[in-house]
Order: sequence, then C-alpha cells, then structure tokens
Amino acid sequence: MTGKILKGIAGFYYVHGADENIYECKAKGIFRNKNVKPLVGDDVEFSVLDRLEKKGNIDLILPRKNALVRPAVANVDQALVLFAITHPEPNLNLLDRFLVMMEVQEVPVKICFNKTDLCGSDKKQALGEIYEAAGYPLYFTSTYDDQGIEEIKELVQGKTTVLAGPSGVGKSSLTNLLFPQAEMETANISEKIQRGKHTTRHSELFGMGRDTYLMDTPGFSSMYMEDLECGRLKDYFPEFESYEDGCRFLGCVHIGEKTCGVKDAVEEGKINRSRYENYRLFYQELKEKRRY
Ligand code: GDP
Ligand code: ZN
Repeated sequence: MTGKILKGIAGFYYVHGADENIYECKAKGIFRNKNVKPLVGDDVEFSVLDRLEKKGNIDLILPRKNALVRPAVANVDQALVLFAITHPEPNLNLLDRFLVMMEVQEVPVKICFNKTDLCGSDKKQALGEIYEAAGYPLYFTSTYDDQGIEEIKELVQGKTTVLAGPSGVGKSSLTNLLFPQAEMETANISEKIQRGKHTTRHSELFGMGRDTYLMDTPGFSSMYMEDLECGRLKDYFPEFESYEDGCRFLGCVHIGEKTCGVKDAVEEGKINRSRYENYRLFYQELKEKRRY
C-alpha cells in the first residue's frame, strides 16, 4: 500500500495509508540498500503485517520532491510562518532568520500575523511595509473572530505546508481551525506510541484528505544559521537584488563598501531598515563563527 509518513519516533514511523488508516511501521531493509533515512513527509510503499493492530513495514521511499534539514521533513511545498501581531510582540530578528533559512532551502514562505483582534490597523500597515516590500506574501488572521482564516484555508489547500512560529502565537489554535480532526489524529497516533517513547516533542504532519498536510514544527526559537558563508547571505534577502546594479564592486556584501546600491536604497527608504539591520547582524554572526 502507499502512504505518507506523519510522524517518526524511536525507529517507528506512523504512516497515513491510502485506506485512511494509520499504520505503525518499521523500516527494516531499506537502510541496507540505500543510505536514506525515512523522513516525516515521505511518500512510501509499505506492507501491512498486521491488519488488526495496523502494523506494517516500509519497503520503499518514493522519490522526494525536496528534503529540508531544519525542520527535517520531505516533500514540502511551502512554509507558513506565524507570529502574533502583539502578545507576544513579533520578534523580527527571529522572523528574518527563519526567512533566510527557508530561502537557503528554496522553500516559498508566506508570513502570517495572528491576533489582529488585539490591535489597530497602524501596526498591520507597519509590518506590511516591511515584508510586502521584501516580496513576501502577507496574511493577517485572528483565530478569535475568524478574520483571514478562509484565506489561510485556501493557501494550504492541496499542499504540504510547514507551520512554524514561536510558542504562544496561536499555532495550535490555527491548526485546530484548519484541521478540526487534528486532535483526533494526534490521539490516534499517541494511542499507538508505547509509553516511554514520547519523551520530546517531534515534528508531526496533520493530514486533511489525501493531498493537504500541515506540519507542526517544534524548536523554532533555537534556529541558527550554520554552514552559511557570510558572503552569500545577501543572496537570501530577495529585495536586495534589484539594487545591486548600483554597487561598484562585484561581490559587494553591502556592509562597508563605498558606492553601494543596497545601502543607498536603505537610505532612500526603498529597502526596509529593519531588514537591513538584521542582515548586518546575521552577517557579523556568520563572520565571527568562521573565525573559530
Ligand atoms: P501556540 O503556542 O503557538 O500553539 O499558541 P496557542 O494556539 O496555544 O495560543 C496561545 C494563546 O493565544 C492562547 O491563550 C490562545 O487562546 C491565544 N490566541 C490564539 N489565537 C488568538 C487570536 O487570534 N487572538 C487572540 N487575542 N488570542 C489568541
Ligand atoms: Zn552593495
């Protein structure tokens, strides 16, 4: 049977089978042939070993569309990063960091600010100026009065979406609105997971039908950018590109150089200062890391 891995814990994989059941599978045999480890999000072929207890073995990982390292998940179409517009105040440093990581992994990102019921339109506008100008699709929602929820439903329909964001911003509330059956699914999987295995929070996919999946990702605040050369960081701020024609030197990193189109654009308000300041911060961070 074919299926999709929703969750992996301690050598067991919870597979959403084509028959809508969830099977607890091992992956005996597939490591031997190839050096691939099954990932959450993988489409697989598996054998049902026990119909009643819903146990199986994964025989084959089907070709992946992509595989992210952080979070470890396969076949992602897009990332939806959620922040609260207030309570807690959005941490734009964290948001920009996340955007860089998704740019590096070539995953399209959509940004959503939740809890719009708690503030007026000024703040929405200010955030819009930063992120729409940077080219990111922006959504505003409230899970309390359902503002913007329909748009998010449309956005996730038919796709596999990684939902990320710090805690307390409304990720669970949004997931429950989008996937009313998610709680049941979690309970269904938890029932299968033997006690003791459930020590840390793991990444988990929620399915709605056979083609819409949402992945809840833990550990958002511990994100750091490793293996990234400081000189390449600029490539992951998409709004810089069209101003690089104004830079004097090839490979200008837009920090200390004279005659820099990007710095001029910041001065002229064409590139948002908050984004540029975070760029400088990340650049220094990456540069210092390389020295050790
Ligand atoms: P998570 O930690 O990101 O999963 O966030 P939760 O969904 O658990 O929500 C955190 C808190 O924010 C809870 O007290 C929710 O009731 C509240 N909350 C969630 N969405 C909204 C919203 O749209 N507006 C307001 N005012 N509060 C919200
Ligand atoms: Zn420059």
